[in-house]
Amino acid sequence: MQLQQADAAGPAVRSVVILGATGSIGRSTAEVISGANGAFRVEAVAGGRDPKALAQAARSTGAKFAALADPGGYAELKEALAGTGVEPAAGEEAVIEAALRPADIVMAAIAGTAGVRPTFAALSAGRTIALANKECLVCAGAPFMRKAAALGTRLLPVDSEHNAIFQAMGNASLDTIERITLTASGGPFRTWTSEAIANATPEQALNHPNWPMGPKITVDSAGLMNKGLEVIEAHYLFGIEPSKLDVIVHAQSLVHGLVAFTDGSVTAGLAAPDMKVPIAHCLSYPARSVTAARRLDLAAAGQLTFERPDFERFPALRIAFDALRAGSGLPTILNAANEIAVQAFLDGRIPFHRIARLVEEACNSALAEGVAHEPETVADALAMDRAVRERLRSELTGRAASRVEAY
Ligand code: MG
Repeated sequence: MQLQQADAAGPAVRSVVILGATGSIGRSTAEVISGANGAFRVEAVAGGRDPKALAQAARSTGAKFAALADPGGYAELKEALAGTGVEPAAGEEAVIEAALRPADIVMAAIAGTAGVRPTFAALSAGRTIALANKECLVCAGAPFMRKAAALGTRLLPVDSEHNAIFQAMGNASLDTIERITLTASGGPFRTWTSEAIANATPEQALNHPNWPMGPKITVDSAGLMNKGLEVIEAHYLFGIEPSKLDVIVHAQSLVHGLVAFTDGSVTAGLAAPDMKVPIAHCLSYPARSVTAARRLDLAAAGQLTFERPDFERFPALRIAFDALRAGSGLPTILNAANEIAVQAFLDGRIPFHRIARLVEEACNSALAEGVAHEPETVADALAMDRAVRERLRSELTGRAASRVEAY
């Protein structure tokens, strides 16, 4: 890992690229950086479809380069950045260019599979990655981890559970770890009946009790698919076998992850539910910075409660465990099908319970038809991803399938 070290003149300024600068993690990253007393410098920012928000992010962070994924927003971005000295660019390749700008660390916070190529480009260029996008590892976990190992670069987990587990693991060797447990808040439907969950509206699914997040991950959280994606993410990130991965529902979201060792000891990562905590940890790693993040107050919380997840009411979690155990590229297929299904739900075209059903059907047909295979490369994973999307889109045709998010 190539991170600048503190020297006699004081700590070096760490340069950062923020991919997904206009989203929830991107904005929290900018907040952490602005509160860090000049410890960081933002080299470039990239965003998806909102030129005004991206221009604002570029101006407020002092970035030199701003890349919008949507080429149609270029004129507006250029106008919004006129006179600022920030170089505007647009299109998928511009986002890759942002990912490759010289930087000590790249915050990979683009939502969904759209984040895979830019993140892999940055990783391949030897950058340390603060990984907030879990779809990279769910879609193409093996190629990502192989590349990181080959180059000796690090993927630092921003996802709160993985960050807590990473901190709780310390330098433990894998053979001393008996079990890794991710906590789940249970989302807005934790106490709902199966029937009520089946007919939940997008508005209800988007009402997460503990974490303010973007729409895709919030819907994923409501059905516990997010936890399923995180279990898969943990498998690749920590190199831990599926049978040692576990989920427990913890409604307060104060304990984020636990590591149980072969001697019976357990270490856990705790913090207030504030993404600035794991973001700051990754940006400063292995040092620590000072943040204005919310503080853990256990006495105020009073009680910490834990319960086993209900695989009947939340089939998405079971489906994700099944896909991970089956291997053979099923996580790639699950991830692609889920993204299309979530968007169809958000567009009001399918009821909530069909998300998990569509994902399971996509996995089953890939297995039955023998098209599923462990992706060798990121390109291979993305080709599988595209095939699943096209198929699912055509299955959903007749209900304005063209409005399903363009990949
Ligand atoms: Mg998480």
